[in-house]
Amino acid sequence: MERDWEKEAERIIDEERIHAILASTRVPELSEVEEILAKAGELKGLSLEDTARLLNVTDDDALERIFAKAREIKEAIYGKRLVLFAPLYVSNECVNNCLYCAFRRDNRSLPRRTLDFDEIREEVLTLEAKGHKRLLLVSSENPRKTGIDYLVRAIETVYNTRNGRGEIRRLNVNAAAMTTEEFRRLKEARIGTYQLFQETYHRETYKRAHPPGPKANYAWHLTAMCRAQEAGIDDVGMGVLYGLYDYRFEVLATLMHAQYLEREYGVGPHTISVPRIEPAENAPLAEKVPYPVSDRDFKKLVAVLRLAVPYTGIILSTRERAELRNELFTLGVSQISAGSRTAPGAYRKASDDSAPEGSQFSLGDHRSLDEVIYEISQMGYIPSFCTACYRLGRTGQDFMDLAKPGLIQQFCAPNAILTFAEYLEDYASHRTREVGWKAIQQHLNSLPNPKLRARTEELLGKIRNGERDLYL
Ligand code: SAM
Ligand code: SF4
Repeated sequence: MERDWEKEAERIIDEERIHAILASTRVPELSEVEEILAKAGELKGLSLEDTARLLNVTDDDALERIFAKAREIKEAIYGKRLVLFAPLYVSNECVNNCLYCAFRRDNRSLPRRTLDFDEIREEVLTLEAKGHKRLLLVSSENPRKTGIDYLVRAIETVYNTRNGRGEIRRLNVNAAAMTTEEFRRLKEARIGTYQLFQETYHRETYKRAHPPGPKANYAWHLTAMCRAQEAGIDDVGMGVLYGLYDYRFEVLATLMHAQYLEREYGVGPHTISVPRIEPAENAPLAEKVPYPVSDRDFKKLVAVLRLAVPYTGIILSTRERAELRNELFTLGVSQISAGSRTAPGAYRKASDDSAPEGSQFSLGDHRSLDEVIYEISQMGYIPSFCTACYRLGRTGQDFMDLAKPGLIQQFCAPNAILTFAEYLEDYASHRTREVGWKAIQQHLNSLPNPKLRARTEELLGKIRNGERDLYL
């Protein structure tokens, strides 16, 4: 019998409790901030109440301390690596009418398109030629055009598209909420993470932002992660579209959702994405953002998320400007998109226009993958295309068991180095190759375990000799 999803949704998000916590927490004294940060340092996450206290901080000094702790925790768990990916938009023909999105059905001026499988192949070849190994397939909702049969074939097409050393090793998917049976088919197609953003956890706001259409059902959308888990997809990715409602409410609700998943399925979210509303054509809530989040508050909420769910990857997209992205990396972001286009078919066109016709929203960061890699490696990060955990079955609970005590670093740093070396050998510009190999040498020297260092050096030698896809 089909579950009562409305009832389950009420178990997941208790709005009254969130409002009560927000109403009863004040701006904390510096000593109280220090106490909470000391707890966060144990890497066990934070309670809703402590999270609310940190979100109330406005004072520069206290904020700086929160940032410093977020940096420390990110390094303790993930080290210096930053995982890179690109979104692959397959369709903008949507039956929904979300008031913030240019793909909404009432936007008559958007050229509509759903890629066929040859076109998907062309897009993937273009992305592979730039050096990408991890993609996020993004689709609008349209049961006639982008239903489960289409998605499964699209996923198979992506994995089967190989050219020389180019291949996609992990494909994550961001597409509408589905039935358990449909999720099973995604699982069989070997997707990595299933991502779905709640947009807003606040029911009233959700209702206002989503005119009638399949996505208007708050409970069905919210419980998608339950069905994904029950279908065996144990890496799930959550997110809120910041700007729709009070960011403090949304962060607490995200945490409540994460705690629910951990309680029910023994595993919290694999990733949390932090999109902010960007300008979008004919989208009333993008033209007039109801609850704009300032850069300062945005940095605070990313840092607080890092402290509250230390074992969860935080994903930042090209929605943000380059300078701000660079700051956010230090505060806890562990995955970023680079060289992105948000219109179906836009990679192959190879234009410099970063918001070509049919785009979902305009991008804040216009740099190519190579430019992003050049900059982040100069900032002391290791760009990573690693997919080892997923391919070795280290997903869900197994991944969390490794991530929680910081053990993942032992695998992540060497694997990041190895995939970075592959990129440098096969795709990098001259200047990136030069700074990249120097960076690799430094990161290698700082690997604490001599055995691991020796093993990584050995594999690096093999990569220089032409072997590929080596990992620990
Ligand atoms: N159609 C599916 C859905 O809505 O869940 C998945 C694809 S949708 C294109 C992916 C995400 O884009 C949405 O979840 C939303 O958070 C984000 N988005 C929509 N409009 C946006 C805007 N104006 N600025 C930034 N992100 C936006
Ligand atoms: Fe469609 Fe998703 Fe955009 Fe809503 S957010 S209009 S469901 S593509």
